[in-house]
Amino acid sequence: MKLSIVLWPDPVLLQGTDSITEVDDDLRAAVGEMRRVLFEERGVGLAAPQVGIAKRLMLVCPSGNPGDEFVVINPEIAEAEGNELGDEGCLSFPGMFGEVPRATAIRVTYQDLDLRTREMELTGWVARIFQHELDHLNGEVFIDRMTPESRAAIEEDLEALRARAPESP
Ligand code: ZN
Repeated sequence: MKLSIVLWPDPVLLQGTDSITEVDDDLRAAVGEMRRVLFEERGVGLAAPQVGIAKRLMLVCPSGNPGDEFVVINPEIAEAEGNELGDEGCLSFPGMFGEVPRATAIRVTYQDLDLRTREMELTGWVARIFQHELDHLNGEVFIDRMTPESRAAIEEDLEALRARAPESP
């Protein structure tokens, strides 16, 4: 299995994902590939749809350093508070950045690669990454949440990316 980054507006980024009920060899191989892609692309987070897999699986790595990433399966946000603007990019939108409002602090539950349930309180940067990646699992992308000013600033780049797609929706 060799996976690579899927670019917007590929339908797999926009359709939502299925829950994971079993961790088999295929899923472990997918996680390995996602790790490789994440660090090759120098990202801080990666959701499975971004490599063409429509499942509720994502990696979060606020430091960007290999080994610091955590594998997140079937995530949920149980509580959210605060709201702040911050700059975001996305590996599925090369070279594009913009301001996105996100909750400041979140309490999350998810399962790890052994399907053990975990609970964490996240704030700031890591909370932002978690929310960005969770959006991908719901078929949402950061341009949907961007401030109108930021969205307008990348509109031409978006059109260029859309024109590159094999089939424009
Ligand atoms: Zn993204």
